[in-house]
Amino acid sequence: MSVRELVVLGTASQVPTRHRNHNGYLLRWDGEGILFDPGEGTQRQMLRAGVAAHDINRICVTHFHGDHSLGLAGVIQRINLDRVPHPVTAHFPASGQHFFDRLRYSTAYRESVELTEVPVSADGVLATTGAYTLDSHRLSHPVESYGYRLTEPDRLRMLPGKLAGRGIEGPDVGRIQREGSLRGVPLEEVSETRRGQRFAFVMDTRLCDGAFALAEGCDMLVIESTFLDEDGGLAADHGHLTAGQAARVAKESGVRHLVLTHFSQRYTDPDVFEQQARAAGFEGGLTIAQDLIRVPVPTRHT
Ligand SMILES: [Zn+2]
Repeated sequence: MSVRELVVLGTASQVPTRHRNHNGYLLRWDGEGILFDPGEGTQRQMLRAGVAAHDINRICVTHFHGDHSLGLAGVIQRINLDRVPHPVTAHFPASGQHFFDRLRYSTAYRESVELTEVPVSADGVLATTGAYTLDSHRLSHPVESYGYRLTEPDRLRMLPGKLAGRGIEGPDVGRIQREGSLRGVPLEEVSETRRGQRFAFVMDTRLCDGAFALAEGCDMLVIESTFLDEDGGLAADHGHLTAGQAARVAKESGVRHLVLTHFSQRYTDPDVFEQQARAAGFEGGLTIAQDLIRVPVPTRHT
């Protein structure tokens, strides 16, 4: 069974609390692990959550504020200490290359792992693997910030009943898939498209086109909601979202499961985030993130 789940390592914004570490999220997507925005303390949160350095294939940093990136130094050194046997790729805003360099080489250690840097400087595709396409969109924050999205390719599902009805069997099933039709039967008649799953990670930002573009049609959206709606002025001033705004992005984009996170330390009752997300009209699955929880990507409709 392939596993697709979000492992939440930390959920605090600028200031960690007794119950919330700085940011950090590992997305398990089949056999791969993608680490998003490792803030301070991520290495130890990984240990607590049962995530090993070996589980990381890719690192995506939205922007270079400390709560999203200070954990890079420790995580990169740990990847090398553990001699992770596969290459690791890191994405981050190209304008922050000097920050990445400092974090990567902040202290002495022995480099044993191939870490490839693929910085982001425009909207578009960053990587295509057999399992997904990774793309990024610019967000709106005081420092340059990019959100990320994984899109699984659509696949063709053959319909056994329809194949049998047309007398197509054995090697002919492969032939019709390759050739698009067989003995006058079009491929579309005996197959259907299985839509690929989508996951997006949006943080930190005001409401902007990039947030909506990333969220469009996602099975899971992880999005910041630093503030409650009554502090919308603060959110606008500092380039953040409120719970209601984040839920609006999800609702208007047809998101199936919404994960709210990156909470300001000023709030103590997570239930209010849920209430405001629902008040904004979002009716899908909803998780108000807590450190160390796991959230499965919802199973397919079909
Ligand atoms: Zn932040």
